[in-house]
Amino acid sequence: MQNKQIYLGFNWKMNPSNLNDANRLLTSYQQAIESKSEKIKIMAFTPSLFYFPLIRIKNELKLDLKLGLQDISSELKGANTAENSALMFDENNKNVIIGHSETRQNFKLDDLQIAEKFETAIKNEITPILCIGYSKSDEINYQELTIQIQKPLQKIFNKEVKTNIIIAYEPVWAIGSGNPASPEIVSQVTDFIKNLIAEKFANLADKIKVLYGGSVNSKNVLELIKIENLDGFLIGGASLKIEEFKGIIDKLSF
Ligand code: PEP
Repeated sequence: MQNKQIYLGFNWKMNPSNLNDANRLLTSYQQAIESKSEKIKIMAFTPSLFYFPLIRIKNELKLDLKLGLQDISSELKGANTAENSALMFDENNKNVIIGHSETRQNFKLDDLQIAEKFETAIKNEITPILCIGYSKSDEINYQELTIQIQKPLQKIFNKEVKTNIIIAYEPVWAIGSGNPASPEIVSQVTDFIKNLIAEKFANLADKIKVLYGGSVNSKNVLELIKIENLDGFLIGGASLKIEEFKGIIDKLSF
């Protein structure tokens, strides 16, 4: 546990509300990032309008983190108003969230559309964070999780994969609620995901990292990272509060 690589995705969602504040937020990460352990890999997923300006800031400050977008089109070109193509990514910041429960819901995306976006990301060497989850809190919905994992992975099973594949387990009820899944549930689900991969997609196993997302903060992060098959976190609300951001990095830099 002590030496495992830890992957942290910070999902800014539709925040902050202007570019000046976005510059300030990224700049405020500097101190925490400078003192972080090398085993921590950070990606920040910004609104698409801020992605390139923030890459300039991050390069000037020499921040050890990568930026990414919160969605991608499954198409590379053409009549797809309002979408971002895989061809448009910065060469050194090729990371994307795919199938976040908010985009699934707001854009009425089904599992096939998510799988197509995922395939496009992989083919274009963009590291995907594939979000999977279910709505009810009373029991783990293994059937839904299985479909959400298998559909995208089947698309790329026999293809060459040059990036990591990151799967984020995000139970919908835990996102932004202040009510995270218990370590027992996260442990059961991460074991389930890694076992499913070993059984059905063994050739991808060494590329797959599994994250948890849903009300992660500086108080619960240390307990959760002890989970054997967990490789890190996808974090929303706490990305926007510098004290929380710093607290999370510091706690994980043991
Ligand atoms: C998210 O946006 O993916 C998320 C997990 O949000 P929060 O950390 O606020 O629950």
